[in-house]
Amino acid sequence: MHLDDAPAPACTICPRQLLGHEAGRFICTPCEHRIDQDLRKLAGPAGLYARLCLRIQPGRGGDGPVVTRSTGHPMPCNEQILSLTANGGIVSTLETWVEDWSSYGLGVHGTGGRLQHRVDQAVDTLRRNLTRAAHRHPALDEFAREIGQATRQAEAIIKGERAPRRVAVQCPCGNVSTVTLDTDGFECRGCEREYGHSEALRLPLADRRAA
Ligand SMILES: [Zn+2]
Ligand SMILES: [Zn+2]
Repeated sequence: MHLDDAPAPACTICPRQLLGHEAGRFICTPCEHRIDQDLRKLAGPAGLYARLCLRIQPGRGGDGPVVTRSTGHPMPCNEQILSLTANGGIVSTLETWVEDWSSYGLGVHGTGGRLQHRVDQAVDTLRRNLTRAAHRHPALDEFAREIGQATRQAEAIIKGERAPRRVAVQCPCGNVSTVTLDTDGFECRGCEREYGHSEALRLPLADRRAA
C-alpha cells in the first residue's frame, strides 16, 4: 500500500514508528542495539558460547546428581548444551546469517577453523555490518529472533546451573534432609548427628517423593 497519508514506517521488530533520523531503515536504533548486545554476549573467551563449551563433560550420562571430586560442583549432563555448541548449533545459526547477509553485500564468509573461532568470526562480521543491514536487510526480525533465542537459551543454562542443586539424603536413623551440593554440612533433625560436606554427600539419596 502506498498512501500519501500513510504513517511513517514502523520498525519490523518492535511496533515503534521509525523517527526522522531512522528514515530508510527496517529497524529502529534501540532494536539494533539489542541485537548488537546479544551478538556481543555470544562471542569471545568469556562469552556465552565459550562458557557453554566449558560445561560439556563427555562420558557422563543419566539424570541423577553427579559430584566431581575435583571441583565439588555438580556435573551437568545436558544434551541441550551439546546441541547448542556442536556444529549445527549456535555456530551454524550465525554462519547461515553471514552467508545470507553476504548475498546483500554485507560482509564475507569466515575462513573456518575451530568452532570458537568460527563463532567469533561470524559475530564480528555480523556486528560490523549490522548498521548497514538495518538499512538493507528485510528479514532482520527473523535474524533478531534467532540470535535472541540462542542468547537466551545459553543464558538460561548458565544461570540455571549456577544455582546450587538440592538433593534429599537419608540419615541411617531414617530422617531425610534436603541439602545443596555445595553444603557445608548439616545436623540431622532425627538423631542430631552432624555431617560435614563430604559425609553429607556420601549419604544415600532418599526417594524424592519422601523428601
Ligand atoms: Zn524496534
Ligand atoms: Zn539421623
